[in-house]
Amino acid sequence: MRRRQGDVDHAARVFLATHRWAERHDSRPLLARSHFHLALTFHYLGDHAASLEHALNAVDLLDDDAPGGLRVIHLVRLANSLAENGSTDAARDRYQQAERIATDIGDRTRQLLVLNNLAYTELEAGNAGTALAAVERMYHAARAIGRDLLIIERDTVANIHISAGRYEEAERILQNVWEAPPWFEAHDAAEAALTLALAQRHRDALDRAQASLDHCRELCAEHQLNSVGVRAMAEQAELYAAAGDHRAAFDEYKRFHSASEQLRSAQQEAKARARQAMLETAEARRDAERYREQARRDPLTGLWNRRFVDENLPQALAGAAAEGRPVVLSVIDIDHFKRINDTLSHDTGDRVLIAVAELLADEQDRLAADGFVARMGGEEFLMVLPGVAAAEVFERLDGVRRRIAGHRWQPVTGVLPVTISVGAVVTGQATRDQAQLLAEADRRLYTAKREGRDRVVS
Ligand code: GH3
Ligand code: MG
Ligand code: MG
Repeated sequence: MRRRQGDVDHAARVFLATHRWAERHDSRPLLARSHFHLALTFHYLGDHAASLEHALNAVDLLDDDAPGGLRVIHLVRLANSLAENGSTDAARDRYQQAERIATDIGDRTRQLLVLNNLAYTELEAGNAGTALAAVERMYHAARAIGRDLLIIERDTVANIHISAGRYEEAERILQNVWEAPPWFEAHDAAEAALTLALAQRHRDALDRAQASLDHCRELCAEHQLNSVGVRAMAEQAELYAAAGDHRAAFDEYKRFHSASEQLRSAQQEAKARARQAMLETAEARRDAERYREQARRDPLTGLWNRRFVDENLPQALAGAAAEGRPVVLSVIDIDHFKRINDTLSHDTGDRVLIAVAELLADEQDRLAADGFVARMGGEEFLMVLPGVAAAEVFERLDGVRRRIAGHRWQPVTGVLPVTISVGAVVTGQATRDQAQLLAEADRRLYTAKREGRDRVVS
């Protein structure tokens, strides 16, 4: 509704918001539709490159089982965008594809839509012959479902006749177009009335032309059809000139000129606002991603937190299982951490946590770049290492343990050592669920503690 009222930038914002929602919720059908409408919106804004990009996405995102009618509409939009960008051949391919789908599903209405757009594109490309061939098929398809051509279709046909100098044909087709049912859109009727006036002027039927133009201008005034309205002024000037009233023609032309300037700058503004909305949306999305990430990070160490683990570990395990790769899950706990807090300070404890986290992140990067390490709470960490084979687990994790124990802790904790205990399991041998795996790792950690700490049990 906003777009049809000419409030294109407002419409763009709504489409963008919808688009963002669809992205967040991974809804392909809705994404396809928001791309479609963004393609149409940018078409109205005259940004053909952006329109084409969205039209391509709209078609790509439709699944094969999407309703045929929808695929036709998306293909037609894509074809129109291709044509607007000068790729007439590619456009023809898409029209053809769309027409085939429409015929396959027996949808004559959609077939007419395809043909109307094809005819218009051929006309714009200067191929009156192919345009007429499409028109023939339009008549045929319309007869098959027993309906007349719609106003918009008649307007296309009339324009094709006008381009070939057949003004009488054009006039016949658009006769009393503003009265003709089916009554679709005021915009289409106003366009057609303007085309009719032009045909009549070329036939020197100036009174009839003036009557058609009056109808057109009434519709424009009533429905705020600004861009048709401006073109109607140019036609009015032509009409005055044809009648020999050059004074009136000149005045009308001046009015046309200033109205058209005004319209252009209004369109430029709308385009700028739509672009601004686009940018704001991208920024909002980056913000949302940042917040999303923040909510999954431990603020003290910068490691992932338990929430991240809950959300990502199942997928990591499933993915590795599908590829037949083992995954090492190791629960890591700092030994006698309370003692560091108690004998030094909570602050020192924090610094130890930060340093251990850094060392663990380094080690994880080195051992398995596609793994991760998280702080599960307090002084307990979880390291996930995909692709580390069972035979190597002990050696690898003991390396991590040695790295921590061997770190130069003296500047932080003085004479107090900092060591870790590790309990580890490897997936792959038996199918066990995540909770069972973690519970087993915990039991092994407890064993490591009981057996004297600063050790790995795997
Ligand atoms: P063990 O070797 O058996 O693991 O002994 P421990 O002292 O490390 O274990 P315990 O679970 O008794 O103590 C963990 C301590 O960690 C208790 C808690 O106050 C402290 N702690 C938890 N979170 C933080 C934190 O963010 N900063 C600091 N400085 N201390 C923390
Ligand atoms: Mg501890
Ligand atoms: Mg603990």
